[in-house]
Amino acid sequence: MIQRDTVQLSEQQRLVRDSIRDICSDFDAAYWREHDENATYPEAFADSLADHGWFGALIPEEYGGAGMSTAEAVVMMEEIAAGGGGFSAAQAVHGAIYNAVPLVKYGTEEMKSELLPAVAEGDTSIQAFGLTEPNAGSDSTRITTTAEKEDGEYVINGQKIWISRVDRSDYLVLMARTTPREAVDKRTKGLSMFLVDLEAAYESDSLTLEQIEKTAGRAVHSYELWLDDLRVDESALIGEEGNGFYQMLDGLNEERLVIAAECVGLGELALEAGAEYASEREVFGRKIGANQAIQHPLAEAYARVTAAKQTVYSAADAVARDGDATAIGARANVAKYLAADAAFDAADAAVQTHGGFGIAREYDVERYLREARLTRLVPITQELVLNFVAENELDLPRSY
Ligand SMILES: Cc1cc2nc3c(=O)[nH]c(=O)nc-3n(C[C@H](O)[C@H](O)[C@H](O)COP(=O)(O)OP(=O)(O)OC[C@H]3O[C@@H](n4cnc5c(N)ncnc54)[C@H](O)[C@@H]3O)c2cc1C
Repeated sequence: MIQRDTVQLSEQQRLVRDSIRDICSDFDAAYWREHDENATYPEAFADSLADHGWFGALIPEEYGGAGMSTAEAVVMMEEIAAGGGGFSAAQAVHGAIYNAVPLVKYGTEEMKSELLPAVAEGDTSIQAFGLTEPNAGSDSTRITTTAEKEDGEYVINGQKIWISRVDRSDYLVLMARTTPREAVDKRTKGLSMFLVDLEAAYESDSLTLEQIEKTAGRAVHSYELWLDDLRVDESALIGEEGNGFYQMLDGLNEERLVIAAECVGLGELALEAGAEYASEREVFGRKIGANQAIQHPLAEAYARVTAAKQTVYSAADAVARDGDATAIGARANVAKYLAADAAFDAADAAVQTHGGFGIAREYDVERYLREARLTRLVPITQELVLNFVAENELDLPRSY
């Protein structure tokens, strides 16, 4: 077993770690392999987490949740990834845990008391978040989906792409323009956040979906969405009209840290597989793990994963201590950058260690590599992280 206890955990964090490890131990490598191969959602795993109340991890206790913070969420998601499921497992449930956060912060009391206890119980899910469009990915303020107010309703028209877990969700948190980009003094203004009841949308024939065929994170489905005169009551607005982009940013640093923790877990999972194979496989009459050419890439990746983990946990501690997530913007971005690259290095070293079996499905490391590659693209690309760091930490001109 590789050494994973490289940060000191609080008692609460240890409890989270042990509970999640226990749940994950019911789902072996074959389970995850099968769901990746068949591109089927890991329903039993998600149900198990929901049944144990983990979908309410970030929901305050007064609404039936566990009232946890980022310091515990990073442990939870690292363990989910390291527990065998990798980034697929994390992606399968990440939205269910995180999409409740804008509601907690900006939802009306009615919205919160109606929905949050059901989410915490695992009876209702808000798994999907819809921002990206065919012509607005990194440059997200360029979205052209519109929401126009009409007789106490908003009429929504537009197209979204890459929206994950719509098939597993009762609600979609949707970003749309309520004021055109040309009519606002700042591009980040005029965007609004809505809670869309998906069943009602399907019934009214104003929402159509098409699944995107993809090669990484296959167990979790992503969709292209067409919204055609989708009518939602004005009470579906989350927070303030025109302020949706800022509402989205608030909480983004915490989410980025949690995703960085998922990358750390994936890196650890890959290193475990690599080290195990290196200790077993014999070539030229001795274990391949005795060769430095095998040891060094694994050890180097371990160093990078461990460093990324330190960055993630110290930033998560800072949020818990100061209660201010905005202050850790650069650290959260740096953590995501380092962790995604470290996961990739770890998975690549694990594949190389396996020789030809590195691409055989039964050894899983090829899946880890596909997933690690994906983490360099989502939820924000590595380049956009560097743009942010250059501007905010190096005092260089904004380049994007
Ligand atoms: C599996 C998966 C799941 C996803 N799930 C969701 C979801 O649930 N909800 C959702 O809203 N979105 C989702 N996304 C979308 C994701 O957030 C975007 O793919 C991501 O933000 C990048 O946008 P893009 O793909 O349009 O790339 P683009 O913005 O087109 O960028 C293309 C390339 O150009 C680079 N680039 C662009 N501008 C610059 C610049 N100024 N400087 C340097 N480099 C630059 C980028 O880094 C990238 O390498 C998902 C994507 C994937 C792949």
